[in-house]
Amino acid sequence: MHLQKEPSFRESVDLMFNRAVALMDLAPGLEEKIRVCNATYTVRFGVRLRGEIRTFTGYRSVHSEHMEPVKGGIRFATGVNQDEVEALAALMTYKCALVEAPFGGSKGGLCIDPREYEEHELELITRRFAYELAKRDMIHPAQNVPAPDMGTGEREMAWIADQYQRMNTTDINGKACVTGKPLNAGGIAGRVEATGRGVQYALREFFRHPDDVAKANLTGSLDGKRVIVQGLGNVGYHAAKFLSEEDGSIITGIIERDGGLFSDTGLDVEEVRQWIMKHGGVKGYPNGQYVEDGAVLLEEDCDILVPAALEGVINLSNADRVKAPLIIEAANGPVTAGADDILRKKGCVIIPDMYANAGGVTVSYFEWVKNLSHIRFGRMQRRQEEARHQLVVDELEKLSSSMGNTWTLDGKFKERYLRGADELELVRSGLDDTMRVAYQAMSKIWHERDDVDDLRTAAYLVSIDKVASSYRAKGL
Ligand code: GLU
Repeated sequence: MHLQKEPSFRESVDLMFNRAVALMDLAPGLEEKIRVCNATYTVRFGVRLRGEIRTFTGYRSVHSEHMEPVKGGIRFATGVNQDEVEALAALMTYKCALVEAPFGGSKGGLCIDPREYEEHELELITRRFAYELAKRDMIHPAQNVPAPDMGTGEREMAWIADQYQRMNTTDINGKACVTGKPLNAGGIAGRVEATGRGVQYALREFFRHPDDVAKANLTGSLDGKRVIVQGLGNVGYHAAKFLSEEDGSIITGIIERDGGLFSDTGLDVEEVRQWIMKHGGVKGYPNGQYVEDGAVLLEEDCDILVPAALEGVINLSNADRVKAPLIIEAANGPVTAGADDILRKKGCVIIPDMYANAGGVTVSYFEWVKNLSHIRFGRMQRRQEEARHQLVVDELEKLSSSMGNTWTLDGKFKERYLRGADELELVRSGLDDTMRVAYQAMSKIWHERDDVDDLRTAAYLVSIDKVASSYRAKGL
């Protein structure tokens, strides 16, 4: 039993920020300037639904405008409040800085349970919310660019884009007012999978550093590692799917709203996902052991724990029972500041949210660039690349026949080598590079500085330094 009081989400983010900033030498006052949220706009609006006017409360918080536009998702959930939105906006600032996405940090939220509404009702509500934000430039390609978050997805982003464009009919860059749109409405290939894909790339990069792996008391690669995932939404689903299908990891646990599933030999992620879609939860799924209190699986023995749902799920009440030696924060803020202290002391390695789930905003950045350039990635180069590769293959085959065909090019190799990269491949390559470079920056500090003993502090140091230099460059 801990007597220590759990701080709020925003306080938790601030505490982690303070811990890092204490190790830095910032100009007086700059620390405070970076920490605080610049502005939070609260909107209450009415929508006529089912014969009555219903009032909704929404927020858009701007944490830092050291770079513009500011960027961050819009969340639809009943728990949305100002403290949460501000914490999430702050994390966006640090996240964007860390992965070098040229944005300030922002976040929005609407207090609503989207499952209670029909599609056409949600459209009315979303459009009205978008209208309220857009008329105050809180949705704008050059100033504030939202994206999906919990409870929102491509569909909502398409409504928001359309709403903005109706209000700004001559803005040639109107589509860049929001990211995470469907492909046919100005989206980019690979955005839906991006955050989960980023989690996979982050883990792959971690396992390329044997010294770091050893700090978590692990060895080897992702192959055969036992993974427990909390939340099989967009992020958790893609991360678990890719890790199990492509890296040989074994998904031993899946925790959902209505309970958890466990299997020593591994769960079939795709099958579980289909089950959830059909039955609304994991209960009754036949190929795994069901536990009603899913949270106990957070404390189960495994190699990697992937909290991919809400903030604050690993907290003072359960942190000392968490056994995973490695936690990757696919969600924003799943580990509270107090839990972080406890886990760190136990030697658990935490790959922090601002890095681990940055894949979403990274691909959002690519989408925004695509919208501003009005051309799909790869459209100019793809066939030219293929033609040049064909030249090499032709030449090699000529050589081979002049040597009596004593060797040949493997058919599979030829096929792979000849194919020019399409948008999806380019997006994945850009994301992979981003995740590698950002990890290396954090890891370097983790190793080089004696006063830094965790990746989160290292991540804060890298990103605060970047934000601070932007402010310095502006003369502040
Ligand atoms: N909502 C996501 C996040 O928390 C994505 C933000 C974006 O793409 O702008 O990072």
